[in-house]
Amino acid sequence: MNIHEYQAKAVLKEFGAPVSLGLPAFTVEEAIAAAKQLPGPLYVVKSQIHAGGRGKGKFKELPADAKGGVRLAFSIDEVGAHAKEMLGNTLVTVQTGPTGKQVNRLYIEDGSDIARELYLSALVDRETGSIGFVVSTEGGVDIETVAHNTPEKIHTFHVDPAAGYQAYVGRNIAYALKLEGAQIKQCVKLVGDLYRAFVEKDMAMLEVNPLIVTKQGDLKVLDAKVNFDSNSLYRHPEIVALRDESEEDAKEIEASKYDLAYIALDGTIGCMVNGAGLAMATLDIIQLYGETPANFLDVGGGASEEKVTAAFKIITSDPQVKGILVNIFGGIMKCDIIARGVLAAVKTVGLTVPLVVRLTGTNEELGRQIIRESGLNVIPANDLDDAAQKIVAAIKA
Ligand code: GDP
Ligand code: MG
Repeated sequence: MNIHEYQAKAVLKEFGAPVSLGLPAFTVEEAIAAAKQLPGPLYVVKSQIHAGGRGKGKFKELPADAKGGVRLAFSIDEVGAHAKEMLGNTLVTVQTGPTGKQVNRLYIEDGSDIARELYLSALVDRETGSIGFVVSTEGGVDIETVAHNTPEKIHTFHVDPAAGYQAYVGRNIAYALKLEGAQIKQCVKLVGDLYRAFVEKDMAMLEVNPLIVTKQGDLKVLDAKVNFDSNSLYRHPEIVALRDESEEDAKEIEASKYDLAYIALDGTIGCMVNGAGLAMATLDIIQLYGETPANFLDVGGGASEEKVTAAFKIITSDPQVKGILVNIFGGIMKCDIIARGVLAAVKTVGLTVPLVVRLTGTNEELGRQIIRESGLNVIPANDLDDAAQKIVAAIKA
C-alpha cells in the first residue's frame, strides 16, 4: 500500500526525521490558509499523487510551457494562484503513464534553501536477508538514469538484523554521501530514525529523493515515498487509515474485497489462474506468443464459487480486455468450482470476448462437462502452451 508524500513525512517525523513544516490542502482556500501558517517568504506547492517525477511532470489541461507539479511560490498570493492551476487538473509524469493522475490534494510546505540534493532509499534485500540502504550523491534526479550511466555513484549498505542498527552504518553512509562536520552526526541519527520507522511500520520500500543539505548546512527529508507490506496492514490500522482509494485501481480495490490476488496490467488478455507461479508463467507465455496480459490474478487454492464469479466480473469490467484465458491446474482448487464460477459470472455479465479454458487436475472431467453442457462458446485447451496460442489466435481473428 502506498501513501502520499505529506503522510509519509508525518510518519517519518514521528520517528524523529527532520522534515519541513507543511500542511495538506484540498481547496485553494485551504492552500492559502496553510501558507498563512508557515513562516515564508518561500513556499512550495506540491501535488499529492501516488507517483514520482511530479516536479518535471506536465498538466494535461495547461499549456506546454506551464510549470510542473511541484512549484516554488514567493508570496501567499502566488501559493493561491498555483493551487488554482493545479487542483483538479491531470498531472502526467514518467511514473503515471500517459493517462496521468488528477491532483485532488496539495501539500503546502515551508520552502528550503538547497545546497545539495542527495538520494537515499531503504528496501528489503532478500538476497542478504536484511534491510539495505541505497544512497547516492546524485539526488533530485531520476535515480534509474544515475544507475544506468554512472553505477559507481550508487552505494549500498546493509543493517545486520541480528545486531540491529549500528552507528557505523550511518557513518559509512555519511562518507558515501560526502557529508562533513555536524552533518555526519545528523546522518547517523537520520538513518537510525529511518531504520526504526521502516521496521516498526513494516515498510517494503522507503525513498527519500532528494535528501537535502540546506544552505544552513543541515540534513532534511525533502521528498518521501513509502510503500508498506500489505500482508502486515492488519497490525497497522493507523496506516490503513491513510489509504487514498482514489489513487488506486478500482479493479484492485474490488478484488481486495474478495481477498483476490489481482494486479491490473495494461494489456489485452484477461487471465484467471490458480497459483502465483502458474499465473506468472501464464503472463510470460502470453507475451511469448505476441500479446500482452491485462492482469495478474491468482484465485488461490480454496476459492469459492462466489470468489471465482467476482474475479471473472472484475476481468470483464476492464474495457481493454479483448480475450480471456482461464488456466487452472487443479490441485487443491477443484476444476468444477472454477467452471461453475465462470458460468455464473458469464450469466450475469455476459461474454463478449473469446474465452479459452484450460482445466486440468482435480475434478477436471466434471469441470469440462459443466462447460460443455452450458452451451457457452468456450474454446477448450489441453495445456498452457496450447491455451496461450489459442487465445492469441482468437483475439487476432
Ligand atoms: P518529485 O518531482 O515528485 O520527485 O518531487 P520532489 O518533492 O522531489 O520535488 C522535485 C524538486 O523540486 C526537488 O528535487 C527540488 O529540486 C525542488 N524542490 C522541492 N522542494 C523544494 C524547496 O523547499 N526548495 C527548493 N528550492 N526546491 C524544492
Ligand atoms: Mg522526488
